[in-house]
Amino acid sequence: MKYIWEPSRTFAEFLILPNLTTRKHTPGNVSLQTPITRCGGLKLEIPFVSAMMQSVSGEKMAVALAKEGGLSFIHCNQTIEDQAKIVASVKKQGVKVGAAVNTHDFEQRIPALVQAGVDVMAIDSSDGYSEYQKDTIAFVRKNYGDKVKIGAGNVVEGKAFEYLADAGADFIKVGIGGGSICITREQKSIGRGQASALIDVAAARDAYHKKNGVYVPICSDGGIVHDNHIIVALAMGADFVMMGRYFARFEESPSAKQTINGKIFKEYWGEGSERARNWQRYGSGGKMVFEEGVDSLVPYAGSVVDALKVTTGKIKSTMCNCGSLDLSSFAKNTRLTLVSASSIREGGAHDVDVK
Ligand code: IMP
Repeated sequence: MKYIWEPSRTFAEFLILPNLTTRKHTPGNVSLQTPITRCGGLKLEIPFVSAMMQSVSGEKMAVALAKEGGLSFIHCNQTIEDQAKIVASVKKQGVKVGAAVNTHDFEQRIPALVQAGVDVMAIDSSDGYSEYQKDTIAFVRKNYGDKVKIGAGNVVEGKAFEYLADAGADFIKVGIGGGSICITREQKSIGRGQASALIDVAAARDAYHKKNGVYVPICSDGGIVHDNHIIVALAMGADFVMMGRYFARFEESPSAKQTINGKIFKEYWGEGSERARNWQRYGSGGKMVFEEGVDSLVPYAGSVVDALKVTTGKIKSTMCNCGSLDLSSFAKNTRLTLVSASSIREGGAHDVDVK
């Protein structure tokens, strides 16, 4: 066996040091444009995608988020026909849309999604370092060349990134076990702190670019709790972030509202939960052997459009502090410092009675 003695870090353990801010560094001059497929084939105006989950990415979210410059991935925990229908309907409103695929029925699902007009697909798996993913990407390349875009993942190490980049993935998702509804680490002991995983994979992405001249974007997936975690992920080199809990809270997500003691919540459940997998009868009995996700409630947070203004406002403000007008220079020039447990306490309101 082999040990890695460096602890697995999370976003909350880092702070960003400012660089010189000049007069040109104003939020109005900041661009959040980012590549999401290899060599910049497809770009987003804001670096956010919504998770390929039943309770997150439906038609309404896909249209609202795409209009703001992001993108939704329609989940594949539904029949091929149902998923393709949603993709086609989003495309009729003329906006970009993504869709998830799996490594089981890809030979049927991918053609149906392409036919429906999907802009980009992603293989949905908690562990993407597999021959199954390589085969799925090979199917796309064989049948469609580079015209059809497909991301892969998830990975938590540089060597897994290289494997999927060599296989031809258009982008690679990073993160195992950090999702808010995820219990993979508890159930199977598989995973890595999201910051450590991202730092490792971002370095591999840059080395791969230098060596091969091919830039394969990476997506930090899961574990974003506060807006400042998005900022840390972008500073660490994520080209974009995928979020579930963040988007599940809004009016536009497909899940139901519940009022408990006068407070409004929205339902949010993991794709590895019994609830998510109920659409399909697994095995003969239909009962899952074990779950990798929970069924939960998240506080209702109004419209995604209003929230995105606040979140992007914070990112732009930090980028100005760091003397950056675009995300690639932000990631290149930003210095991050590891914080101690007591400096985390210092970072919140402390030693006052908050009114
Ligand atoms: P969040 O943004 O922290 O809520 O994390 C969302 C991410 O968690 C998704 O994009 C998936 O990568 C992951 N995920 C979704 N469902 C499950 C599950 O049931 N178990 C483990 N991970 C999950």
